[in-house]
Amino acid sequence: MRHPFRGLLLLSCLLCLVSPAPAQTLSPQARRDLSVLATAYPGVIQAVEVAPGGRATVVLADGARLPYDDGRPRSAEESVEDPDLKTILAQPYPLGPVAAEPPLWFSPGRQRAQALFFALYGHTQAEVRAACRPVPFFNQSIPFNARQGAADAFARVSTRLEKLAAADPGIRKYLLPASGGMVWRVIAGTDRLSAHAFAAAVDVSPRGNPYWRNLPRGRNMLAVRQAFPPSVVAAFEAEGFIWGGKWAEFDLMHFEYRPEIILLARLARGETPPLASIDALLRPGR
Ligand SMILES: [Zn+2]
Repeated sequence: MRHPFRGLLLLSCLLCLVSPAPAQTLSPQARRDLSVLATAYPGVIQAVEVAPGGRATVVLADGARLPYDDGRPRSAEESVEDPDLKTILAQPYPLGPVAAEPPLWFSPGRQRAQALFFALYGHTQAEVRAACRPVPFFNQSIPFNARQGAADAFARVSTRLEKLAAADPGIRKYLLPASGGMVWRVIAGTDRLSAHAFAAAVDVSPRGNPYWRNLPRGRNMLAVRQAFPPSVVAAFEAEGFIWGGKWAEFDLMHFEYRPEIILLARLARGETPPLASIDALLRPGR
């Protein structure tokens, strides 16, 4: 007997042959970047819709839809103000001690897609506050976002630093008192929410560590960057935090939980950390 849907089945098979599967049209860089995001933040990517030309739209856990690469050319300043997902991962973060003064606008991690932060950590002050838990930091208690493992990672940094300070009390002056935690505020001179609004960053010794807006532009900061204890930077980086002291627009007090940036940096130096597969997330898009 002739199957009633035989015609439909034949047609869908033919369509399979003419339109390539999403996995084939995604560029290797997009595939790598999206795998890195899916590894760093499990569950935040709900689907990746791939158009026949390869353009990918990422559907986040809260339903937000973000282009991976919107194709728009951006100046360095625009990359900070309004990046797509490709842009936030475009500058390679240098792990380890500071070797040289970064070129102007080389600030890996300063590019933040705000919609991604909303999906990761909460959309309102109340939602972020409800997601926070206090993390002991020396004799302080700092609220940190418990989502995405951020508070756990910060607690591990805290343990590492206390061990370091027990052996070398000199590092305490670079760290204490710390502030930040959950502060619903915009970045100075902008209308963008800071990583502190999401309780995913900490400022160590804000009075002792300079911020670029407070010093003349063009000043060579290499000696100041290198004076900051590399052991402290290494303790944060080991747990998925980036340091603002490596940015051209330096922010020496600032450490921010950005496991995707650290993961990319490890890949760039030839390490092979396990990456989540995005195959099950791919959908054909238009
Ligand atoms: Zn900060």
